[in-house]
Amino acid sequence: ARKFFVGGNFKMNGTQKDLKAIVDNLNNAQLDSNVEVVISPPALYLDFVKQNLNKSNIEVGAQNVFNKPNGAFTGEISASQLQDLGIKWTILGHSERRNELGESDEFVASKTKYALDNGISVIWCCGESKDTRQAGETIKFVENQLAALAKEISDWKNVVIAYEPIWAIGTGLVATKEQAQEVHAAIRAWLKQNVNDKVAEETRILYGGSVNAKNCKDLAKEADIDGFLVGGASLKPEFVDIINSNQ
Ligand code: 13P
Repeated sequence: ARKFFVGGNFKMNGTQKDLKAIVDNLNNAQLDSNVEVVISPPALYLDFVKQNLNKSNIEVGAQNVFNKPNGAFTGEISASQLQDLGIKWTILGHSERRNELGESDEFVASKTKYALDNGISVIWCCGESKDTRQAGETIKFVENQLAALAKEISDWKNVVIAYEPIWAIGTGLVATKEQAQEVHAAIRAWLKQNVNDKVAEETRILYGGSVNAKNCKDLAKEADIDGFLVGGASLKPEFVDIINSNQ
């Protein structure tokens, strides 16, 4: 069985005071011990959050990492720097980076490969725009994103996939459980066809986009939804309810 996984993507939010309050809330919460939790604060605060967290089943992850070991890459952070701080996870390929920062499928795939090769597990994000959905091309679009990744990597053991339809991110317009399940099942079918049965069976596929304490329980019941990647609600006390939504 796939272990339920909940990620918190804090994006570019929080100062020390806010982050301390978020971490204190998690430290004091009763969390389902069968859930893997990774919280991703801004890079500047990775160590601060790690130092303040005293829950052994919560890991701290980055929101991005570069595909070179070190050197003249202004503004980037390296896998070895994450390792140095004991950070074992990163998000890659978030639609905000793909769209606002112009990251291509190929660049995201290359960074994913580099991270995995250097001991960093990856929450790899995919998902379509509203126009793509309306054109009926959602599955084809996500399959193309997957194909770019599969060209670069062969070991999927440390990959978690997050399906995040762009139209659902930060909009309050959550995908219905049927919409999400349909794409999750298609991703798993694609993995079965193009990678292998084991990877299809074992890879966690998270849903992200306006997940909150109210809608998480129904989504969590779907066969191919193995957890969530949470933005806005991960900054609030209700994140605990989302972590515990699979009980
Ligand atoms: P929201 O939960 O704020 O919609 O963001 C989802 C997301 O982008 C997580 O990576």
